[in-house]
Amino acid sequence: MTIIACTIDAIEPLTPTVNRVLLTPLTPISYQSGQYLQLCLSEEDKRPFSIASHEGSLQIELHIGAAETDQYSSQALAHLQQLFAAKQPVLTEIGLGEAQLRTDSVRPLILLAGGTGFSYIYSIAQTLAKQNIQRPVSAYWGVRDVEALYHHPEMQQWASSNQHFKFIPVVQNPTADWAGRTGLVHQAVLDDFASLADYDIYIAGPFAMAGVVREAFLQHGAERENMFCDAFAYI
Ligand SMILES: Cc1cc2nc3c(=O)[nH]c(=O)nc-3n(C[C@H](O)[C@H](O)[C@H](O)COP(=O)(O)OP(=O)(O)OC[C@H]3O[C@@H](n4cnc5c(N)ncnc54)[C@H](O)[C@@H]3O)c2cc1C
Repeated sequence: MTIIACTIDAIEPLTPTVNRVLLTPLTPISYQSGQYLQLCLSEEDKRPFSIASHEGSLQIELHIGAAETDQYSSQALAHLQQLFAAKQPVLTEIGLGEAQLRTDSVRPLILLAGGTGFSYIYSIAQTLAKQNIQRPVSAYWGVRDVEALYHHPEMQQWASSNQHFKFIPVVQNPTADWAGRTGLVHQAVLDDFASLADYDIYIAGPFAMAGVVREAFLQHGAERENMFCDAFAYI
């Protein structure tokens, strides 16, 4: 895989624990919505992050969760902050993964994100919105706390302007004033669909969630070849 140097244009907080990182590749690149890149912390240490921007975008957006307890992300963010301060580019590998949006399918879609897995479904949702696709889309985003729903208004706006697009945020630990869905995000999908047999399902989130979802959705009728999730390769 070719190493691509990218300028770091911005690092800005989306929530107290999630940062948006904007990169511009210094050489022409292409990627598909739903793919990821690897940040090269060193020659041996490369960490995957979903690309939040849609294919064709010249600037690449990442959403990096950086809770202190999450070394995987916080070390990657520290690496980026150090390079940003020194005005140096970051090395990346771009356009990885097998879970990109299949535009040749006619099946309805379920997009399922846990936490920062939202980055992945955000990229796919943007492409679907741009292409004005007529396939029904149900986008589920599960978070532990309401404050983690950083693009909530934007997703709601898409949903209200497109009759085929549903957005369902699911909060695990709701506050008293949360009127939406609660619990684990995959359970909301299981509750809403009698069978998943007819759907293309795109999944991103913590590895533990991916494992649980794979088993539960297969038992609920999903076809393995219509489930797309790069985390499956890691578990
Ligand atoms: C290809 C690839 C791409 C990646 N991209 C990114 C990225 O863009 N940004 C990033 O920060 N990290 C990324 N990672 C790393 C990793 O996936 C994230 O650290 C992880 O998704 C972070 O989850 P979270 O802490 O935000 O979710 P959490 O806050 O832990 O969970 C969010 C929700 O997920 C569901 N959930 C969580 N655990 C379970 C469970 N055990 N069972 C059922 N449901 C559960 C619940 O609904 C929960 O509310 C990537 C990893 C890979 C392999």
